[in-house]
Amino acid sequence: MAGAVLALALGRKGRRVIVLERAATPALNGADVLKPAGIAVLRSLGLLESVLARGGRKRTSVQIFHDGTRVAELDYRRDLDEGNYFILAPYALVLTSVLEALKELPEVTYLTSQEVTSLQRDGSWVMGMQTSGRGLLRARYYVGADGAMSWVRAQIGIEVQRQTYAQKLYFAKFPAVASVDELNRLYVDSSGALAYFYPVGFDAFRAVLGFEEAEGDRLVSATAEVLQARVRSFASQSQDAVAALTELAGFARIPVARMHAAEYGRGNVALLGDAIHNVHPITGQGMNLSIEDAGELACCLDEALEPGARGSASWLERYRVRRWPINEAVVQYGHGLCSSLKDREQFIASFDRQMQASRRGGLAPQARQQQ
Ligand SMILES: Cc1cc2nc3c(=O)[nH]c(=O)nc-3n(C[C@H](O)[C@H](O)[C@H](O)COP(=O)(O)OP(=O)(O)OC[C@H]3O[C@@H](n4cnc5c(N)ncnc54)[C@H](O)[C@@H]3O)c2cc1C
Repeated sequence: MAGAVLALALGRKGRRVIVLERAATPALNGADVLKPAGIAVLRSLGLLESVLARGGRKRTSVQIFHDGTRVAELDYRRDLDEGNYFILAPYALVLTSVLEALKELPEVTYLTSQEVTSLQRDGSWVMGMQTSGRGLLRARYYVGADGAMSWVRAQIGIEVQRQTYAQKLYFAKFPAVASVDELNRLYVDSSGALAYFYPVGFDAFRAVLGFEEAEGDRLVSATAEVLQARVRSFASQSQDAVAALTELAGFARIPVARMHAAEYGRGNVALLGDAIHNVHPITGQGMNLSIEDAGELACCLDEALEPGARGSASWLERYRVRRWPINEAVVQYGHGLCSSLKDREQFIASFDRQMQASRRGGLAPQARQQQ
């Protein structure tokens, strides 16, 4: 996602970009939520209509429950003074919109099934890279948009600490039901469990369940009835969604981690998206942060590509200064929220409407308008 959006933003500025995707078809992971900060970037790239036309669904509020009791409601129309909705749009849908737009840009070459086998280095500057399909490629700048296990990050020597959460998340899709159609509801309980139900398009809903590892392992070998009884104990307003749940063994299990790199690149190499930060999905902002990083990095690289800017390292520092405070705030916010599930008062205190809704005002001292 991050690499494709960056290529689009740079291509629109007339810059030549090659995207090398390792997979035969791009990864389609579980991200489903676009929030105002990510929407702003997509709007600036003229993609919003395409995302909505492909089935992205606008929503304005989410209710939050602890041990079955409603403790908060986030209403984007009431709580935000800008960007008054979010969009439920699966990663695949958003990525398809970006890739379709890339096809219109002769400046951008998007290649799949490409393995980068080595980097040619001169200190912290990369001079070229050896690829499996295209031989040696040379560029002025290189970007690692290669996800949480970033190969590029390792090659340029940036070390990160990933802390895996005890809670595991499970994702599955089911036919639409009335309560989910009506409203997004997020439930947590004081045993550290989580259930989030939201629509995917108009015919289906996503169930995201979270359990601490031992309970998750036990429930994976239990029947659908046992799982439903467990979720029903705290998902008080979503009985039709709970009744639709099948055995947990059929869900995709996702380990969740927290990570934020201190450096966002070295020399003429930048990193973005999951390669520099992993946030807890309870924030619903991993895909958004990747898109926001891409919007900012495109501005910084565009400046660096101006003739007089050759050799300047300040573009990388500008990018880091503008993005680091925002990314750090979201990583910490997600950590605080998911660590507070067992304590109702602490959970309520940790829930921050502005952060949850991706409002960035005041977080980055030099944040600029998306162009
Ligand atoms: C189950 C799940 C649910 C999520 N839910 C949400 C959500 O609701 N909202 C939200 O905002 N975020 C969510 N996220 C997070 C979000 O999906 C990620 O933060 C986002 O996809 C990161 O984008 P990215 O482009 O940085 O990385 P990725 O999407 O991981 O893309 C990395 C790409 O790099 C490619 N690649 C990797 N290594 C190489 C290599 N060596 N050479 C070439 N290519 C390579 C991969 O094939 C992949 O296409 C969720 C994530 C998961 C797993």
